[in-house]
Amino acid sequence: MTLSGRTAVITGSNSGIGLGIAHELAKAGADVVLNSFTDRDEDHELAESLGREHGVKARYIAADMSKGDDCRALIEKAGRCDILVNNAGIQYVSKIEEFPVEKWNGILAINLSASFHTIAAALPGMREAGWGRIVNIASAHGLRASPFKAAYIAAKHGLVGLTKTVALETAEAKITCNAICPGYVLTPLVEAQIPDQMKAHNMDRETVIREVMLDRQPSKEFATVEEIGGTAVFLCSDAAAQITGTTISVDGGWTAM
Ligand code: NAD
Repeated sequence: MTLSGRTAVITGSNSGIGLGIAHELAKAGADVVLNSFTDRDEDHELAESLGREHGVKARYIAADMSKGDDCRALIEKAGRCDILVNNAGIQYVSKIEEFPVEKWNGILAINLSASFHTIAAALPGMREAGWGRIVNIASAHGLRASPFKAAYIAAKHGLVGLTKTVALETAEAKITCNAICPGYVLTPLVEAQIPDQMKAHNMDRETVIREVMLDRQPSKEFATVEEIGGTAVFLCSDAAAQITGTTISVDGGWTAM
């Protein structure tokens, strides 16, 4: 239980990668704060059951990561934040000429500016504690571009830049700041697209995964939320104390090309 006594705040963690990271951090002994913008009974129950499963304290705090004040309030309400995982993210696909301005603004706010706000709010406590870990969930699209994802790619490249700057500003404070860059991860969101793709391409599930979805992922396998969570746990471990300001790709070889 390498992370016993630490509290982790994971933004956008009531599903997918964020929830997977929360499970792995809790499994390593950290108390966890889950978050999304909804405030339903099931969100709070999710945190309670995760806490019971791993024998740690777990809470859910609603906060909208598209709003700077909410981002800062999340950290304040958490009370303590030794580990900050900036994971909340959204996507929108369109030609740049037709890209809706509100989608551009929303993606930049959630996928980039939210991390600026949470990091700014969390750092004073980390400095006081003399220990901190910041893990930003960027993407292979933080290192490589694809067409029709202008806002997402600009935001994720920006998040990689923010990661480096924060690392330099905290390098002597026993705080590290790194970005994980996943390739395609089989989250419920991605899983839900498979049947539609099977119909659209008249292909079976395996062919859709191989030839359509994982076209650019040389391993031809999705990364899993457990693998992303395990990478986050590693970045929070003592072994990673001198790893800061960098990116770790979990992408089956995508960015080796
Ligand atoms: P997901 O849709 O399952 O999870 C996104 C999470 O963010 C959800 O919990 C959602 O409720 C939350 N969220 C959305 N808007 C929010 C807001 N305004 N305020 C607070 N929370 C909000 O998707 P995912 O695939 O798990 O993605 C998680 C992160 O991983 C994102 O940053 C995404 O860009 C990144 N990522 C995903 C993949 C992939 O293939 N799934 C690949 C690379 C990077």
